[in-house]
Amino acid sequence: MTPPTGFTYSPTTLTVDLDAIADNWRILRDRTAHKRAAAVVKADGYGLGLAPVARTLAAAGCDTFFVAHLDAGLELAEIFAGRAPRPRICVMNGLMPGHEPVYAEHDLWPSLNDLGQIDLWRTYCRRVERKLPAALHCDTGMSRTGLDRTEAETVIGEPERLTGIDLRFLMSHMACADTPSHKMNREQQQRFADLSNRLPKPAEGAMLAASSATFLGPDWHFDWIRPGVCLYGVRPNTDGPNPMRPVVSLESKILQVRQIDAPETVGYGASHRVEGPTRIATLAVGYADGYLRSLSNTAKAFVGEAEVPVVGRVSMDLITVDVSGLPQIGPGDSVSLIGPHQDVDAVADQAGTIGYEILTSLGARYARRYIGGAA
Ligand SMILES: *Cc1c(COP(=O)(O)O)cnc(C)c1O
Repeated sequence: MTPPTGFTYSPTTLTVDLDAIADNWRILRDRTAHKRAAAVVKADGYGLGLAPVARTLAAAGCDTFFVAHLDAGLELAEIFAGRAPRPRICVMNGLMPGHEPVYAEHDLWPSLNDLGQIDLWRTYCRRVERKLPAALHCDTGMSRTGLDRTEAETVIGEPERLTGIDLRFLMSHMACADTPSHKMNREQQQRFADLSNRLPKPAEGAMLAASSATFLGPDWHFDWIRPGVCLYGVRPNTDGPNPMRPVVSLESKILQVRQIDAPETVGYGASHRVEGPTRIATLAVGYADGYLRSLSNTAKAFVGEAEVPVVGRVSMDLITVDVSGLPQIGPGDSVSLIGPHQDVDAVADQAGTIGYEILTSLGARYARRYIGGAA
């Protein structure tokens, strides 16, 4: 008996609320006076599925998308094939020698991240006698991608280096925007404003803010914002309540319940020990599913309104929760791991990480259920 494609026997379901993603995009866009918001859908739409996420955002009115890898740009071009006008797709990781024709053929915009990449694109534009679109990324404090200070000054002094390129965006990226009081926020904003005044004007304008910086205020909005993680429900910072709608929930069904009466240990390393009568429920979720091992003996789960602690180490495929307070539950009953009682950020806090890592780690073995969205 072969199950149909896409079918899974997995007892764990990841639910993605596409309407919430569309609402979150509108919430972010409407925080700016100019209402121009791109969407970052790198890493498979932050782990939630590039195609459903991108189609939902396009249906909500988003016409500009950012990915990290050229491969994702090609995948997205395929997803949007036939959609007119084709949403714009910008690849942030930068232009590699030999990839120029791929960008041109699929109408992808490379982010030009150093003088060599500018030169590559300009040479290619001249050769094919087309003024092709690109973004220019200037580093203002990440020391990661983008033109460094010296390179930016070179372009300011020799603007003809951009001649023949259809410059669409000037961009940079914030280092500390999730900490609103951090002094680097203003420093980067000023450095970027100065660069955008002195560099050749891009057709679409300047963009600095990702999710968190969108909440720093209008000075950070420039002409476009470029949010990612907040689209998927993660909080922009730890100051006050999360203004975003939750997007993901994770539910699993109990595989087995063990009644323990004498002193006994639970899981690898015997890191949890029970002394008296205890009920331990086992769930088919493990670190191979992105349920991080650092959640061992720390995370919480919920059965209805009742909180049940994760006890013992997270294994590759299994976790154990203490359900002693719930004598009535058994195999097949649902346990919520991410949901109304604890969001992605709460789980990230328990794991000692950030919502980004929880989302992008969510495993391939879960059943995936998409609700809402553009069908
Ligand atoms: C990831 C990324 C974004 C989106 O950041 P979020 O914090 O997820 O909103 C924007 N710009 C660049 C350059 C990025 O790497």
